[in-house]
Amino acid sequence: MKDAIDEAKKLKEEVIRKIEEATKTDSDEEKNKIISELKSKYLKEKLPEMFKIIPQTKEVEQKKLLGKILNEIKEIIETKSKEIEEQKKIEFKLPDITLDGRTRFLGATHPVSEVMRQIKKIFEKMGFEVEDGPEVEGDWYNFTALNIPPDHPARDMQDTFYLEDNRLLRTHTSPVQIRAMEKRRGKIPIKIIAPGRVFRRDWDATHSPVFHQVEGLYVDKKVRMSDLFGVLEFFFKKFFSEDVKVRFRPSYFPFTEPSAEVDVSCSICKGENKSCKVCKGSGFLEVAGCGMVHPEVFRSVQYTDVQGFAFGMGVERLTMIKYNIDDIRLLFGSNFTFFKRRYF
Ligand SMILES: [Zn+2]
Repeated sequence: MKDAIDEAKKLKEEVIRKIEEATKTDSDEEKNKIISELKSKYLKEKLPEMFKIIPQTKEVEQKKLLGKILNEIKEIIETKSKEIEEQKKIEFKLPDITLDGRTRFLGATHPVSEVMRQIKKIFEKMGFEVEDGPEVEGDWYNFTALNIPPDHPARDMQDTFYLEDNRLLRTHTSPVQIRAMEKRRGKIPIKIIAPGRVFRRDWDATHSPVFHQVEGLYVDKKVRMSDLFGVLEFFFKKFFSEDVKVRFRPSYFPFTEPSAEVDVSCSICKGENKSCKVCKGSGFLEVAGCGMVHPEVFRSVQYTDVQGFAFGMGVERLTMIKYNIDDIRLLFGSNFTFFKRRYF
């Protein structure tokens, strides 16, 4: 039995010596050779043989001692070879400075942000100020003050995300009209645009639950519908191109009277292709809603003896028409091929 203990001690010394060799050498090849020898010869052959002797030993103390030495050897091989392997890995990771640099994809302005910038620029030229409003609105600002009382059918077309305490995510930028008039307490003229994010319960190729609108409001002593037509015609000619035709169609909105929808001529087919997919052969594309501010809206904010016009347009829709994008969801996804296209 004593022989077995001596043999185990010798084996331990041998293993320690080999590990020292592996640590000292600079050659990875040498390191690999020693480690694989330790694992195959010592860990898989010699140690299991020695462990077999333990059950045959009768003296308890000697049994314990032999077990202890053998376990120490096992642990030394396992931990040290791991350390040496890791050291190798770190060295291996050092960069090769002779390689070419990696090209990084340069970020660009999002098409929607760019179109918002263009819209603001044109209206600012006409003297409109940019006004902001909260995205979480009260029912009063989003509906009631805009002549959409509870139970009004127009609420069905603008289903949204309702929060607690009669609050909701705004369905349009029109609440900013009310806030702007309240803030100015009857002072005129008011000439603002309100770009911003709005929310609805929609999701398909042309509708997204989150999208952007630009609202416009002009209030003064005497404002005519022809002023509204002039402002919008100027805007769309600057935004699309000088040769674009602008058309106004009678329509209905609760907060304007009379109301109109605004169409621009199709830039793809110029109204000459009956099977044009963009305008569906009509030659025109709907781009905005507008009208003269409804007297009920002025009543909500206690404005008297004033007139005004208001308009609203969808930024994604304008972006899609201007840059010929056929699915709104592309604007909110992360398709790099789409965003790498040059738009501006
Ligand atoms: Zn067309």
